[in-house]
Amino acid sequence: MSASATVRVMSPEEIAARAGGETPFLRLPERGTVFAERAMRLRQLARGHAMADYLDFVADLAQAQQRLLDGLAAAAGPAAPALPDADALDRAARAGLPPLPAADGPDAAWRGLLRALLADLQRSAPAATQAVLQRLAGADDAFLDRQADALLGGHADGPDLAAAPLVGAALQVLWTHQVCAVQAGTAAHQPSRGAPFGRTDDERACPCCGSRPTASITRSAGESLGQRYLHCSLCSTQWHLVRIKCSHCGSDKHLAYQSLEAADAEPAEGAGSRAAQAAVQAETCDDCGHYLKIVHSDRDPFVDPVADDLASLTLDLLVAETGQRRHGVNLMLLFGEGAAEPPPDTGPGG
Ligand SMILES: [Zn+2]
Ligand SMILES: [Zn+2]
Repeated sequence: MSASATVRVMSPEEIAARAGGETPFLRLPERGTVFAERAMRLRQLARGHAMADYLDFVADLAQAQQRLLDGLAAAAGPAAPALPDADALDRAARAGLPPLPAADGPDAAWRGLLRALLADLQRSAPAATQAVLQRLAGADDAFLDRQADALLGGHADGPDLAAAPLVGAALQVLWTHQVCAVQAGTAAHQPSRGAPFGRTDDERACPCCGSRPTASITRSAGESLGQRYLHCSLCSTQWHLVRIKCSHCGSDKHLAYQSLEAADAEPAEGAGSRAAQAAVQAETCDDCGHYLKIVHSDRDPFVDPVADDLASLTLDLLVAETGQRRHGVNLMLLFGEGAAEPPPDTGPGG
C-alpha cells in the first residue's frame, strides 16, 4: 500500500452547516443517460488498461442496457414490469422499508429483458462472448430465476459467474426502470402525494430497493461541498450518507483512506492538495474490517461508481492484503467472498 494518508474531509457537522440543510437525500437515476454515461466512462478507462477487453465488454453491455431502458419508457401491457400501487408505497413508507425490495425477487418481466439484452449483444459480441450468450439464451425460466435469486440474495449455490454480469445487467435495467417509472408516475398522476421514495430504517441499504452499494461518490453542488452518496448496485439510485462513516457497520471511529497514487500521500489540508488527490480511494474501517471505495467527482467529473470500481481492481488487491474485506457489490464483477456474504444485519459475525 503506497498511500494510507489521513485525508482532510469535512466532519458531519461541518457538512451540515455548509449545506444549510438543503442536501438532497436522494439522487434518482436519469433514465435517458444513466447507462450511456457509464459506457462512455468505461471506454475512457479502457484505453491502455490491463483489463481493457473486459472494460470494453462492460461498456458494450452498458450501451445495450441504455437501449433496453429507453425502450421500456414507452412499454405498456402484459410485457411491462409491474409497479407498486399507491397502497403498497404507503405501506412501505409507514414500515420504513424500501418500496421495491430486491429481496422479494424480480418481476417476471425480467426474463424478457434479459433475452432482449442477449439478442442485442449477439449482433456485435466477440466470439469469446458468444458461447455464454447462446447458453443463456437457451436457458429455461427456472434456471434464469435461480440465477437472479443467487445474485440478489447471495444464496449458497452462488451464481454462474460467467452469466452473472448479463443477468445482473438485466436486473439493473428492471429496477432502474421501476424507480424511474414510480417516480414519474407519482409526479404525473398523484402530485399531491409525497415523494414515493425517502428515508428508510437502514441508512446503509438503498432506500428504493434495499440493496448494498457499489461504492460512494462525492458530489459538490453550490454551497454543499463534497457530499457523499452511496451508489446502489442494483437500481442506480444514490442516497446521502454523512462522510467519515462506515457503510458496513456504521462506525465513525477508525476510518482511513487508501489509494494507489504514491505521489498523493500525506496531503496537507486545503483545497489545492485535495484536488491533486486520487479520484478513487478505499474507505477502510478498522472496527469491522470492511472497506468501500469512494470516487470523487470533484477530482474527476467523469467518475462513475460502477466503471471506476471495475477499473481500480488493483486497489482491491492491495487493500485485501491488509486483511480488509470488500463491502461493495458490483454486479459486473463478482468477488467470491462478497457475492456470498450476507448483508450486515443478518451476518453471523459482522
Ligand atoms: Zn437500489
Ligand atoms: Zn465498519
